[in-house]
Amino acid sequence: MRRRRASRGVARGCTLACVSEAEFFRQCTTCKKPIAHGASYFKCSVSTCNRPKLAQFFCSLACWDAHLPEARHRDAWAEPVKAPTREAVEREQRAEQERGAEASARKSSMSEEAEKRRRVVGAPTADNLPQDVLIVVSKLKAYVKARSGMNTSDGVIDVLSEKVRKLCDAAVEVAQADERKTIMDRDFK
Ligand SMILES: [Zn+2]
Ligand SMILES: [Zn+2]
Repeated sequence: MRRRRASRGVARGCTLACVSEAEFFRQCTTCKKPIAHGASYFKCSVSTCNRPKLAQFFCSLACWDAHLPEARHRDAWAEPVKAPTREAVEREQRAEQERGAEASARKSSMSEEAEKRRRVVGAPTADNLPQDVLIVVSKLKAYVKARSGMNTSDGVIDVLSEKVRKLCDAAVEVAQADERKTIMDRDFK
């Protein structure tokens, strides 16, 4: 009695997890029976039943029929298909891996390229630099007010930020010529 319960437990828990995917093509969506590589199975004609991550596979017409009440298709039929052979699946997986490896190799060589460029030119291109406000707006306005009684238009903030960036660029060049990693007050003179 106890033994029977144990073995039933195993059978129930034995889904994809305990049989490696290489041993069969897919499991039947309805009855969970494995569909072997190279075997015939049915797929649903409706595209929502064939979405890449959610694709459904049916070992028999009866199993396809069984998904209909829940799917509520307006018009559907079962299409007989042949599962790819294990060799085809493995070939596809290898190709996939190679594509992935190539892509990451390409990516790392691209960043190497960028790194080199950065070292050669000394600065990244202007359009990927931060364009933040570099001025303390309230302090600036207070200064202008105290100095002259004038107001400061908002456009001034961006113009001054740009001037600060230009001054920093020049200072960076002086420090680089001096082979320093820190810009200093004297670089602005
Ligand atoms: Zn089935
Ligand atoms: Zn369907």
